[in-house]
Amino acid sequence: MEMLEAEQEDRALAQAIEWIARLVAFDTTSHRSNLALIQDVEAYLDGFGITSTRVSDTRGEKANLFFSVGPHVEGGVILSGHTDVVPVTGQAWSSDPWVVEARDGRLYGRGTADMKSFIAIALSAVPRMLQAGLKRPIHFALSYDEEVGLLGAPAMIDRLRDAIPAPAAVIVGEPTDMKAVDRHKGIIGLRTTVTGHEAHSSQTHLGASAIMAAIPLLAKIDELARRAAAASSPDRDLTPPHTTLTVGLIEGGTAPNILARTCRFIWDIRPAPHDDPEALLAEFEACAAEVEAAMRERFAECAIVTERLSYAPALGARPDGAARSLVAALTGANASEAAAYVAEAGQFQAAGFDAILCGPGSIAQAHQPDEYIELSQVAACVRFVDRLIEALAR
Ligand SMILES: [Zn+2]
Repeated sequence: MEMLEAEQEDRALAQAIEWIARLVAFDTTSHRSNLALIQDVEAYLDGFGITSTRVSDTRGEKANLFFSVGPHVEGGVILSGHTDVVPVTGQAWSSDPWVVEARDGRLYGRGTADMKSFIAIALSAVPRMLQAGLKRPIHFALSYDEEVGLLGAPAMIDRLRDAIPAPAAVIVGEPTDMKAVDRHKGIIGLRTTVTGHEAHSSQTHLGASAIMAAIPLLAKIDELARRAAAASSPDRDLTPPHTTLTVGLIEGGTAPNILARTCRFIWDIRPAPHDDPEALLAEFEACAAEVEAAMRERFAECAIVTERLSYAPALGARPDGAARSLVAALTGANASEAAAYVAEAGQFQAAGFDAILCGPGSIAQAHQPDEYIELSQVAACVRFVDRLIEALAR
């Protein structure tokens, strides 16, 4: 009996590894189409008579995919992951990043850690899910464009709310070393464009420098950043333990002796789960309105416009939530951690789902050349999925 179980475990692990290689082989770098991967998954599901739903981007070049295994009832679990990966351009790889190579007890390849292994392990378990006679369903939610501003998932999450009976929990399989991660920061990406009035730089009374006008705006961001850093945080596990604001890019002016007509800067707010980024943004906007009004008194064309480039909400902890207790039961560990990065779990939570992060591999390997996942992590995730199947078949 024990022998048989060990054999079954070995076979499950081998199938998982096969699927990891199968998914890594698709170059789904975010700027490319992920449709070949999606088609492969659809064809695999067809073989089991499982129907799936695509939620495509507007150009039809990329798609999210969701489907369910098991009965159409409430109380299921969504397993979610992004299909896209970051570029390998300019990175020194020891082997082909799109061909999984096993060495030193690891699997090397782009996306092995972040985060095709989780998806592959779950997909490889579909036959076992079907055999188990699930009483509550396992839903899959595969997204695109996560690595370029978490752009893909929201449309799918929207559809999921109506398409499936309310699930108990969402597990987003970002690499957490199979630990429960129940909070992460959010992000609002912003671009502010200041339009001034050109003149010779000796004639400051005849123009309005967009760069000079940007200075109080930048000072405001600095002030907000310092205040956020000084605030006592409810969560010391976040790195750093507070909301951050910073300017990443700035450009403006055409010559040293011309008062700049435009100045543009790209900045972001990364709110801690319990902070309100909209309040910070409103304070910035009030400052910008004041500066703009003063400029406009002199030149009507002057303007300050701030656009949102990206938005993803933070994930806040729900210590008594179903997701937290499910992952604790499946991993046998009660502790939870906070992630330094932004993930799709916050988007699920904002849509009313109880979401948590838990997946194989280490975030330290993500986005690196020679990205890898430890085989022990793959095995741990296979066991995790099998325990989930058992729990939902009970
Ligand atoms: Zn990821």
